[in-house]
Amino acid sequence: MAPTQVVVVGGGPGGYAAAFLAADLGLSTALVDPEVNPGGVCVYRGCIPSKALLHVAEVLNQARHAKAWGVEFGEPNVNLAKLRDLKAAPSSSTRTPCA
Ligand SMILES: Cc1cc2nc3c(=O)[nH]c(=O)nc-3n(C[C@H](O)[C@H](O)[C@H](O)COP(=O)(O)OP(=O)(O)OC[C@H]3O[C@@H](n4cnc5c(N)ncnc54)[C@H](O)[C@@H]3O)c2cc1C
Repeated sequence: MAPTQVVVVGGGPGGYAAAFLAADLGLSTALVDPEVNPGGVCVYRGCIPSKALLHVAEVLNQARHAKAWGVEFGEPNVNLAKLRDLKAAPSSSTRTPCA
């Protein structure tokens, strides 16, 4: 195995971009992170989970306003457990340990 030339600490968007660049430049690169997979705040707690919730809010909002367009829905029944699963899904689907 080639000796490691670059060690990037932290696998968030900053870290994994740096690691990809170093590897693309031909440097033997290691990425160190306590999580099973890279992603950082963005994948696990920030951008992706928050956009999943924003999407659901947008669907509810559209459904509420649809009456004005001639389409009526009943009151929404929000299943919080399923909503939490959806919020975790983008990151959990990437949680397969790397080979
Ligand atoms: C609710 C929310 C929504 C957001 N939405 C957006 C958005 O829509 N668009 C956008 O561009 N940005 C968004 N952000 C911001 C985005 O998440 C951050 O800008 C981004 O995650 C910063 O990346 P980073 O690599 O600098 O740090 P982080 O993502 O914090 O990554 C740091 C990494 O370092 C690791 N680490 C920590 N300590 C150690 C250690 N001692 N040794 C090794 N590894 C360590 C952590 O496990 C983590 O993986 C959002 C943030 C939040 C909180």
